[in-house]
Amino acid sequence: MSVKKLYFLPAGECFLDQSAVNRNLKPGKLVGMPVWSFLLETTDGPILLDTGMPDAFINNPDYYKGTKREGRVVPNMSEGDSIMNVLKRVGYLPEDIQMVISSHLHLDHSGGNGHFRNTPILIQRAEYDAAIGNDEYAPLECRLPDLQYQIIEGDHNLIPGVQIFFTPGHSPGHQSVLVTTETSGPVLLTIDVAYVRENFENGVPFLTYDPELAAKSIRRMQDLVQEVRPSAIFFGHDRDQANNWRTFPDFL
Ligand SMILES: [Zn+2]
Repeated sequence: MSVKKLYFLPAGECFLDQSAVNRNLKPGKLVGMPVWSFLLETTDGPILLDTGMPDAFINNPDYYKGTKREGRVVPNMSEGDSIMNVLKRVGYLPEDIQMVISSHLHLDHSGGNGHFRNTPILIQRAEYDAAIGNDEYAPLECRLPDLQYQIIEGDHNLIPGVQIFFTPGHSPGHQSVLVTTETSGPVLLTIDVAYVRENFENGVPFLTYDPELAAKSIRRMQDLVQEVRPSAIFFGHDRDQANNWRTFPDFL
């Protein structure tokens, strides 16, 4: 079993207060963050990493109006950004997907999980425990209790070419993924270990559940970078990087 292709699939945008991206900045200004799903084409079928925002966000920038997140989280999602339509563009239906890996259960990462009712959803124990049944955590679509969760604890070699790393801090059970395709060399998808490059390289603090643990996870991923020398490092929500990235139909 091996990974043939890694596709980067844009799945809309979410505006966050700039202080979420850089804790040193004063709150009061929103910045647009690209939202991603990733498709790993393997010799045994496709694996999806993250499912974007919930369909309830479609054409609904006021979703958080009247809540404590009003003015700090503003989704910018169109019909085409729904994971159903994102997948359709690649040529797949949800039932084609062999497995969903959920990096974590935040609003911009697992909103489409409910479209995969019969698919194993790989998640860390700590994330499952923090999110499922917790109304404060994320919209319900992101933390549905009755899916086919496959729970892991810690690092996990999923298949040759897909290594999962337990990188808590941004969320209690966050995981990052190292993908090696037949041609790419190792590609590190940090996911939200770092929203943007400066979080990763310069230690600029950002939105985390546990800042100390988050810093430790960054150091761990930096050690991994030294060890495996990835051909690419892709950050969770880096607009500058996204603007210059080759997305679907290109692949690594
Ligand atoms: Zn997150």
